[in-house]
Amino acid sequence: MTERWKNWAGDQRCAPARIVRPGSEDELAEVVARAAADGLPVRAAGAGHSFTDIACTDGVLVDTSGMQRMLDADPATGLVTVEAGVRLRVLGEQLARHGLALENQGDIDAQALAGALATATHGTGAAFGNLSTRVVGMRLVLASGDVVDVDGRSDPEALLAARVSVGALGIASTVTLQTVPLYTLHRHDRPLPLDATLDALDAHVDGDDHFEFFLFPYTRTAAARSTRRSTETPVPTPVWRRRVQEDLVENAALELVCRSGRRFRSQVPRLNRLMARTFAEHRVQDHAYKVYATTRAVRFTEMEYAIPRPHAREALERSLDLIERRGLPILFPFEVRFAAADDAFLSTAHARDSCYIAVHQYTGMEYESCFRGVEAIMDEYGGRPHWGKRHYQSAATLRERYPEWARFQAVRRRLDPDGVFTNDYVRRVLGPVDGGGAA
Ligand SMILES: Cc1cc2nc3c(=O)[nH]c(=O)nc-3n(C[C@H](O)[C@H](O)[C@H](O)COP(=O)(O)OP(=O)(O)OC[C@H]3O[C@@H](n4cnc5c(N)ncnc54)[C@H](O)[C@@H]3O)c2cc1C
Repeated sequence: MTERWKNWAGDQRCAPARIVRPGSEDELAEVVARAAADGLPVRAAGAGHSFTDIACTDGVLVDTSGMQRMLDADPATGLVTVEAGVRLRVLGEQLARHGLALENQGDIDAQALAGALATATHGTGAAFGNLSTRVVGMRLVLASGDVVDVDGRSDPEALLAARVSVGALGIASTVTLQTVPLYTLHRHDRPLPLDATLDALDAHVDGDDHFEFFLFPYTRTAAARSTRRSTETPVPTPVWRRRVQEDLVENAALELVCRSGRRFRSQVPRLNRLMARTFAEHRVQDHAYKVYATTRAVRFTEMEYAIPRPHAREALERSLDLIERRGLPILFPFEVRFAAADDAFLSTAHARDSCYIAVHQYTGMEYESCFRGVEAIMDEYGGRPHWGKRHYQSAATLRERYPEWARFQAVRRRLDPDGVFTNDYVRRVLGPVDGGGAA
């Protein structure tokens, strides 16, 4: 029977010709070379936490969950080499054992490292880049089965492409990261009036190490999250208290409200106002890798745009206004985050300090009218969609938003001239290998 694959949200499925589970770089090289020899395209899957068909293929799907070992860690320099399939949660624990940590993280840690890198996965913090900015080297398995070292000395051009690759250059077997000494995060969650938050946005974003907020449409209360870094001793939250906060308040209550809203759509504004009233003040002080990620049990779909930071307020207000004017039943909160500019060719924050505005919808509910409407607003700010989240762009609309698009395509032609690592998504957003991405 054909083995099928589906993503976390359960709304992207494929039936690959075969799913392979290599346990080492040698095995990975062998399965890739065999697939290419059989004339089959190849895609790697990390943890399936993208909302699009980015990891899907009819050819050979490489499940990287068997490649999660730490290969080398130097606490003196912070340089660490790991197998590329390592889940961020596992990596956090591995690093902590060496007194090390990732410089910044997103709000879950279920992703595979290479999966998170491929889509420019980011956290929040105006002074911090996305995860890929800490990559100093990678080993990539090419269609021939050859393994190439990609680092700043051997091939700096390929490194700038491979850090955020959309999976289109080859399969990463290992990643070398610059990590930092293990540190503590002090997270402070509290409800704030939206207008006051937006009035003082720069002060929040520049004053906190990591600032973000959530916001339900039809409400004017921001659930603000300010996080400070320190070397102070962690004061772990008792597990029961964390479970009450995350499992009951952030997940069970949200699930209940979402189910009601899916049934009674006209009640969405009221339900959102009810949810906004559950925002409570809450503090956490623990090792960073235990603080960044929270539990996300309620299934949803998502679109997220990176826009130049100065447009944050206007773009958010226009998006909220669009939803409210059209009466769109959006049951999930917006999430607003910030990240520093970087130089990876396809980073969503390439060459500009960015604000990330994410819009979500509960599973099983119509999302397209909202996502398309918000996307049209983001287009006006030169918005770049998160590569792993829903959007309606194509190579034709994206190429002008990435100043180093041609350099990425040149590396792609060099490393994967036959397009073995191209799937429908890659064809749509990057174009064919030989088309320079113009299609
Ligand atoms: C609940 C939830 C919360 C999220 N939170 C955040 C967040 O805070 N910040 C954020 O930016 N994003 C967030 N995301 C999006 C998520 O981080 C990205 O979609 C990420 O790419 C998923 O990683 P994955 O391991 O599941 O990769 P997959 O979705 O399985 O794959 C993504 C891409 O990586 C490629 N890939 C995987 N492994 C390799 C490899 N070894 N070599 C080459 N290419 C590879 C795949 O081919 C594909 O192109 C969230 C998603 C969910 C579902």
